[in-house]
Amino acid sequence: MSPETACIFCHIVAGRAPAAKIVETEHALAFLDLFPSTDGHTLVIPKRHYENLFEADEETLPEVHLLARRVARAMRQALAPDGMMALQLNGAAAGQTVFHYHTHLIPRRAGSELRIHGREQADPAHLAALAARIGAELE
Ligand code: AMP
Ligand code: ZN
Repeated sequence: MSPETACIFCHIVAGRAPAAKIVETEHALAFLDLFPSTDGHTLVIPKRHYENLFEADEETLPEVHLLARRVARAMRQALAPDGMMALQLNGAAAGQTVFHYHTHLIPRRAGSELRIHGREQADPAHLAALAARIGAELE
């Protein structure tokens, strides 16, 4: 089986798996994390499958990160967090669990616990409403 066939994010890109999508461009997609660390936890990915930063290509990587900036700004408008964590993990030893490149955007409140991964699955209806709220603030 090719990595793309087994990859949950490739299934989301292709519309074969559900996700609370915020926005997509030609080569990039932003959607809410199903196990959010905080409310609004978002992932920004290339539509093309590659595993990590080492494999990233020059065509899509800038687009992914420009979309991350655009979505981060919309999240700041919609959620008014005190800060925003933007981070990206490479390899299981670094904590990567889905092996399709992605940047996490995690809105944070002052003094809240520093965590990358959430423990509970979010309510899909809540995620859909949140995606619409963030999407409404996109420029
Ligand atoms: P990482 O550990 O950096 O590879 O992060 C992978 C992220 O993907 C985690 O925060 C998971 O909660 C998230 N995740 C896994 N499956 C899904 C899914 N089907 N939809 C949305 N987010 C997911
Ligand atoms: Zn993939």
